[in-house]
Amino acid sequence: MAVIGIATCRKLEDYRQSILHVGGEPRILDSSMAVEQALTGIDGLMLTGGDDVAPSRYGEPPHPTVVEAETGRDAFEIALIEAARARQLPILAICRGVQVLNVACGGTLVQDIPSQLAGALTHSLPVPPNEAYSLAHEVWIEKDSLLSTLMRERLADADTCEVNSRHHQSVKDLARGFKVSATAPDGVIEAIEDPASRFCLGVQWHPENFFRTGEFRPLFEGFVEASTRQA
Ligand code: MN
Repeated sequence: MAVIGIATCRKLEDYRQSILHVGGEPRILDSSMAVEQALTGIDGLMLTGGDDVAPSRYGEPPHPTVVEAETGRDAFEIALIEAARARQLPILAICRGVQVLNVACGGTLVQDIPSQLAGALTHSLPVPPNEAYSLAHEVWIEKDSLLSTLMRERLADADTCEVNSRHHQSVKDLARGFKVSATAPDGVIEAIEDPASRFCLGVQWHPENFFRTGEFRPLFEGFVEASTRQA
């Protein structure tokens, strides 16, 4: 069985459930751990949602809307990403996760989509009170990508799908070696991946919210399967 290290966040349960539903064993990692200790026995790394990466991490002054994540979280997650990539562990990064992945690998972020991207769609759609996770916008999926391969059956070869959206930042300059694997109609980057890695994928939406209905189950299945082969 693949042990999946999940970098902790305030809304952990759906991430845990998404891994459990595809037969993985979640293990929660937090910044009180030393990185080497945290990765011991881990077969795959999952990065989760949360507040913003400090813009100083990519050499920019902060936009007024930036809310930095919990103290220590940037440093811990960047070190986790570097160590996991050195070990060739599969990585699945979600929302803040794709942002910290891009920054850890040398990329930059759009600090505030509503004020910095004219004509942008609404990317901050609140969770409805009934927790029926509503879809916010569609994404176009790059055909020649891991994301497309994973979603092919579920999308029946379509190259778009509807996603939810709760972010005010997004990938700007892509980290070296990475490619864009999904884009919103307004040009916002919604998924990236490292084609040189066996499994290194980040998505800007929240696939974990759909664990009950399975719309994005193939992402978690593929991630846990890649992590199992590693073990
Ligand atoms: Mn979005």
